[in-house]
Amino acid sequence: MNLSKSKYTRYCQCPKMLWLDTYHPELAVPDPARERRFREGNEVGDLAMGLLGEFVETTAYTPEGKLDIPSMLKNTRKYLIEGRENICEAAFTKNGCYCAVDILHKTEGGYEIYEVKSSTELKDVYLWDVAYQRWVLEQSGLNIAGAHLVYINKHYVRQGELEIQKLFLKEDVTEAVEPFYHEVAENTAAAKAYLAQKEEPCGELGEQCFKPYDCPYWQYCSRDLPSPNVLDLYRISAKKAFGYLREGIVTFDDAVNSGIPLNKTQRRQVDAEQLRLPTHIDRLGIRSFLDTLTYPLYFLDFESFQLCVPPYDGTWPYQQIPFQYSLHYLERADGGLKHKEFLADENSDPRRAIAERLVEDIPADACVLAYNKVFECTRLKELAEAFPDLSEHLLCIRDNIRDLLDVFRDGFVYDRAMEGSFSIKKVLPALFPNDPNLDYHSLMDVHNGTEATDTYLSLRGKEKEERLRLRESLLKYCGLDTLAMVLLWQRLREFCHI
Ligand code: SF4
Repeated sequence: MNLSKSKYTRYCQCPKMLWLDTYHPELAVPDPARERRFREGNEVGDLAMGLLGEFVETTAYTPEGKLDIPSMLKNTRKYLIEGRENICEAAFTKNGCYCAVDILHKTEGGYEIYEVKSSTELKDVYLWDVAYQRWVLEQSGLNIAGAHLVYINKHYVRQGELEIQKLFLKEDVTEAVEPFYHEVAENTAAAKAYLAQKEEPCGELGEQCFKPYDCPYWQYCSRDLPSPNVLDLYRISAKKAFGYLREGIVTFDDAVNSGIPLNKTQRRQVDAEQLRLPTHIDRLGIRSFLDTLTYPLYFLDFESFQLCVPPYDGTWPYQQIPFQYSLHYLERADGGLKHKEFLADENSDPRRAIAERLVEDIPADACVLAYNKVFECTRLKELAEAFPDLSEHLLCIRDNIRDLLDVFRDGFVYDRAMEGSFSIKKVLPALFPNDPNLDYHSLMDVHNGTEATDTYLSLRGKEKEERLRLRESLLKYCGLDTLAMVLLWQRLREFCHI
């Protein structure tokens, strides 16, 4: 059973994860966001290849399009003999342990490992990875003089051609890797023994299920946990919740009987569940929120994408770039509901076009409702900074935004179907159970924000018919988001008999 860098780090996170990967990968729940990060990691790795100067690359593929490892090993040997200064994807294998180094850099004192990450910060899990590489290379007879992590500079702002020397930061981790390195021999032996086990091993649930990465087997491993349980308590930290589980405090009844401290929101959540309370409605509180709203009243929702490599001038790594919005609005209290929407052309920088349309569509003095307004406010501020001529109007819109989330976060409405969450995807079905008009599952192609981003980014190069269909799906999805806000607002009014 061969180990690789990724298998080794999976083992370090949780041995059972590696075992399930090997014997029951079908139990993993696919995570499109993780798959996107993986693709992005590969793209960033390709970009960084020239970071240390001229380089050769070992990568080879089989006729089926899979990595051709034997050819990569052969190419690596050849380049080592030739004394190449930078070998990208330098491949090594020893005693069933394989790795490919992003950049293997030759120096007078030996070779240096450069591991490229698409993250903007350093994490311990990267040190596991580099330590494993160092160990495999040393076992293969190489003298390793140092190790470096290459990661993304979040302060880089693109102007013109991409400058990879500014986009990437390099950090010498030679010393930091040391303690992790000393564990590799033992860990690889233990991982191989673990994998040789045919029977499913026990694996205790713990913080490792979400740290450093969300485990795709969570659903499978947690299948016997009752619902709700202490992990569902509002904003409870994983450390606390898993600590309770280990003490045998699992259900809300256990939580109450054991007297664990609960904050006000968690107490409301537990009471609602234990006593099967009907929807909690604080009319005075709701009224105090509704009375701050004025007409014309707008309901705004953005969709955005973020890329590791800034795509346009003036953008930075992982900047949220808005490409679409939906806007429902009422001009007067007795006026009918109207709708406007914007979806940018996928072939160019959407920011100027979206900023202009916002200024056209939303009066500077209009009252605007958003759900979790931090996101909309930050996008408006960024657009204002990017386009000074529109800045005044955009900042007025931002300053006039009220947050519909406040009603739920402040505890004016609570239903146990919200399960301790105030996200609109939980609040909606709680207040409109089984309403087919609010069923995101019945939409075509786009059912959530991640799919909206992926769909928009996939539009380029699509055939016209498919492109139009997908654009229509994007409009329907975003439109449903603001319609949902309108219906929530109406329901709040009904609660107050307005
Ligand atoms: S869910 Fe937790 S216990 Fe199960 S494999 Fe993943 S990390 Fe391990």
